[in-house]
Amino acid sequence: MNVPELIYKKRQGGELTREEIEFLIRGYVSGDVPEYQISAFLMAVFFKSMTPEEAAALTRVMMTSGDTFDLSSIPGIKTDKHSTGGVGDKVSLILAPLVAAAGVVDPMVSGRGLGHSGGTLDKLDAIPGYRWALSEAEFKAQLDKIGCAIIGQTENFVPADKRLYSLRDVTATVESIPLICGSILSKKAASGADALVMDVKCGSGAFMDTFEKASALARQLVAIGTALGMKMSAMITQMSQPLGDMVGNSLEILETLDLLEGKGPADSRECTLRLGADMLVHAGKAADSDAAYATLVKLLDDGSAMAKFEEWITAQGGDANIIRDRSLLPQVKTTETYKASRSGVIQSMDTRKIGVAGNTLGAGRMKTTDTVDLAVGLHVHRKVGEKVSAGDEIMTIYHRDEKGLNECKRLLDEAIVIGDEPTKPLELILDRIWEA
Ligand code: URA
Repeated sequence: MNVPELIYKKRQGGELTREEIEFLIRGYVSGDVPEYQISAFLMAVFFKSMTPEEAAALTRVMMTSGDTFDLSSIPGIKTDKHSTGGVGDKVSLILAPLVAAAGVVDPMVSGRGLGHSGGTLDKLDAIPGYRWALSEAEFKAQLDKIGCAIIGQTENFVPADKRLYSLRDVTATVESIPLICGSILSKKAASGADALVMDVKCGSGAFMDTFEKASALARQLVAIGTALGMKMSAMITQMSQPLGDMVGNSLEILETLDLLEGKGPADSRECTLRLGADMLVHAGKAADSDAAYATLVKLLDDGSAMAKFEEWITAQGGDANIIRDRSLLPQVKTTETYKASRSGVIQSMDTRKIGVAGNTLGAGRMKTTDTVDLAVGLHVHRKVGEKVSAGDEIMTIYHRDEKGLNECKRLLDEAIVIGDEPTKPLELILDRIWEA
């Protein structure tokens, strides 16, 4: 096979065969096909997309590019949730112990934040001692005993995605439906999940900025995941404002603890409960989503989810005393109040810019080699549709020695639009998809 011919075929909108896709991806992973040719191929896919058959073939070859976990020895339907990425999204940290408390086995393999969106592993780094690099044997033993584990990708876990994702990041080809499907579903299928609930974020802080694009991605994820043999569903959720109140790693652990105490912001709680309810249905632990929801409310409010959180964090070497003594989490004492520049109603929040504003303080990385400051970030006090008076506190900025502070404030000035028009609060759950 000839690589330029395959790039040409895709560039002209042609459909590649399974063998042709395997040739390109296997060749890239082995080093036979150079990065510049795969970059051109990614751009061709970005513009011409892929048929569902091509996307499924891409996902399969990525999935089998390295180690895969066999969890068949663990009883039950292993059920996971994955978000397409956003700002302030700490749902996984509450959800994993919550569904485990309901008897679901959740094998979660998470990633780091890149660009404006946060990553679960960075948030977990804020818990002193937490060890995300478990061997397959440790992962399985913990799932069997506790019901949940959150680990990171090891060197040989879906190496095709590791390499393709970094290449997509630097070639502006991230926001492509078949490439996102391949990236997410290859990892989920390789992690041994039997069922998957996708949280497809939609809006200014998401990879899919319109409902139409998010809906197309959700349907494609459900179709390809189903073709790979997983039970699938998707929820399209709001990302035109941060989820919850906290943006930043340690700050998001604080919100996680509030939520596990049955408190915390209503949107984070509702998003967690609704996604968790669908997980319980997939896992056969509830007859329908309403019954599952009621079960999860009880487990959250009676302390069962917090008890499971303590078990899980301790099992992975983390200091669970953070539950009782929050000063054990990384923190900065220096704060600045970001105030409303005028009176009116918050019309919109450019959430990508808010994520980048947090990153300028050090909360995330703009390139893979950046180091993260676990303590800094933003506390969001107001959301879209709320009335404010000039000088009201919209955010508290947690900064370290003013690092990135001016740029952060400049970005917030651009991101937060206050006007005179009455504006409705944003809906949280935009759609729920059970069949492609
Ligand atoms: N998350 C992933 O793992 N991959 C993507 O391509 C987008 C979000």
